[in-house]
Amino acid sequence: MRMSKLYMPTLREMPSEAEIPSHQLLLRAGMVRNLVSGIYSYLPLGYRVIRKIEDVVREEMDNAGGQEALMSAVQPRALWDASGRWEDFGPEMFKLRDRNSRDFCLGPTHEEYFTSLIQGEIRSYKQLPLNLYQIQTKYRDEKRPRFGVIRAREFIMKDAYSFDKDEEGMENSYRDMWKAYDRIFDRLKLRYRVVEGDSGAMGGNQSHEHMAMSEVGEGIIAYCDGCDYAATDEKAEVVYEVEKSDEDIRQPERVHTPGATTIEDLVEFFNAEEARFGKAVVYNVSNEPVVVILPGDRELNETKLCNYLGITEHELEMADDETIMRISGAEAGFTGPVGLSEDVRLLVDSRITDMRNLIVGGNETDYHLKDVNHGVDFHGEVVQDLLLIEEGDICPRCGMTLMMDRGIEVGNIFQLGTKYSESLNANYLDEHGREKPIVMGSYGVGISRTMAAIVEQYHDEYGIIWPLVVAPYHIIITVINNNDDEQRILGERLYDNLRARGLEVLLDDRKERPGVKFNDRDLIGIPIRVTVGRKAAENIVEYSLRREGENIEIEEGEVLARVEDEFKREGVRI
Ligand code: ATP
Ligand code: MG
Repeated sequence: MRMSKLYMPTLREMPSEAEIPSHQLLLRAGMVRNLVSGIYSYLPLGYRVIRKIEDVVREEMDNAGGQEALMSAVQPRALWDASGRWEDFGPEMFKLRDRNSRDFCLGPTHEEYFTSLIQGEIRSYKQLPLNLYQIQTKYRDEKRPRFGVIRAREFIMKDAYSFDKDEEGMENSYRDMWKAYDRIFDRLKLRYRVVEGDSGAMGGNQSHEHMAMSEVGEGIIAYCDGCDYAATDEKAEVVYEVEKSDEDIRQPERVHTPGATTIEDLVEFFNAEEARFGKAVVYNVSNEPVVVILPGDRELNETKLCNYLGITEHELEMADDETIMRISGAEAGFTGPVGLSEDVRLLVDSRITDMRNLIVGGNETDYHLKDVNHGVDFHGEVVQDLLLIEEGDICPRCGMTLMMDRGIEVGNIFQLGTKYSESLNANYLDEHGREKPIVMGSYGVGISRTMAAIVEQYHDEYGIIWPLVVAPYHIIITVINNNDDEQRILGERLYDNLRARGLEVLLDDRKERPGVKFNDRDLIGIPIRVTVGRKAAENIVEYSLRREGENIEIEEGEVLARVEDEFKREGVRI
């Protein structure tokens, strides 16, 4: 491709709406453009990267026995009513109506759709297992679209669905997909961790996420160096126990605490440790007030709470001041477990039951109660673990101290079981002629998010550093002075020869200053660079790699061999 013809609208200025490097660089390099919040276009350079990521995904999915298909993005409501997800999916679903007032959605995912596709077609165990996949545009009206294509409202996903006759078959399919994902992200040169994820809303029992390591990742990971335990913060089990106190149980006492509403205020006021307090968090769940009491030094894990209550995350709302006043008789900040209104569902994290003489909200504005005890002064529904994991917690498997890190979720695999096959009647006949529901799994890779995750791991202050496997072009030839016949001719000759070898080459034949050309090639991150300048008359060019930057002079005839070496080194076929 000649850069004089390439549609590559780069930006000189830093786009003000972009907070993280991948978002900034993809915009600046003219690879993606924003239309409205969370909706992006892929421009020619960016779209080449997308297609290369898709190629890797497709190859590994095919190798693992997947068969590619393509469903519609538009899905009728009936499918989603059958699984219950028309309601459960909540406000993230883009809903629309046709001219006859029939309801549809733009698919956020395709479990129901694929299940209905095979329903009635797969009749016998002899037709199983089956793995179908697609690479397709998904729609989710995210609450907070951000970080460019990392959390968009329209994005490209590879989604796969496996169909098996029993649990054991599904576990094999799951393992195969896990291995395929490992290969995909290895080939894409991402540093990643596979972590246990929460499978709540999907309906299955096991799930794992491939997390690309990145300090800007929204995914928080707890992992153990002592064993291979790793989980998202939503999932990670908190196993610490409160040391049993031998204090005597005392009588509760009302304490005037004007204006002390935060844990920090209270620590100062009472001159007591955070762990001495019983913190109350108040929610509205479909108009039922729920109060959760947890140790004052810990945070609540809302995913665990939702799973315990059997609700989806959008059904969980923080209670407003009016509700708090109604159920506790006090302003927010003074809620406690003693003397709440009758209709409150009171939950306590199991650690609360081992804590003695707690300080809690007094359910009276400007008052707290001290020396309050579970089982004596109040009785809550005890839940084993409602806490968010934090630095210093111990590994639930081996007891070592856990480490925390951040990642971008690029893949997610789920064991679904029979939730969708049962609700959509996808049954088969087993060896004995008995009808059984098909056992399913589902497997997603965020293609567009992966592009951004690669940029997060591969960039410097000047721009993107694409790994060869996904680079929009392999090589860029920069002709310093296009008016110089010798330079121009050598540039053209190299361009033709390298392309004839099947390489993807950009020729910078623009009438721009060398500085502009060098800046652009750094920004767009082409891995192999050839500069044709003053020594063109001697057939000598400069050769460098984007990731190293160091220039060496070589003869024209040496270029191909060096390029081939680089391909070998990167494990990429020409
Ligand atoms: P997240 O927790 O980040 O919202 P998710 O768990 O809801 O993602 P899945 O339903 O597991 O997402 O979708 C499969 C994959 O699709 C994810 O692993 C991710 O890579 C990608 N993906 C999900 N939501 C988005 C989005 N809003 N924008 C871009 N990619 C996304
Ligand atoms: Mg996920």
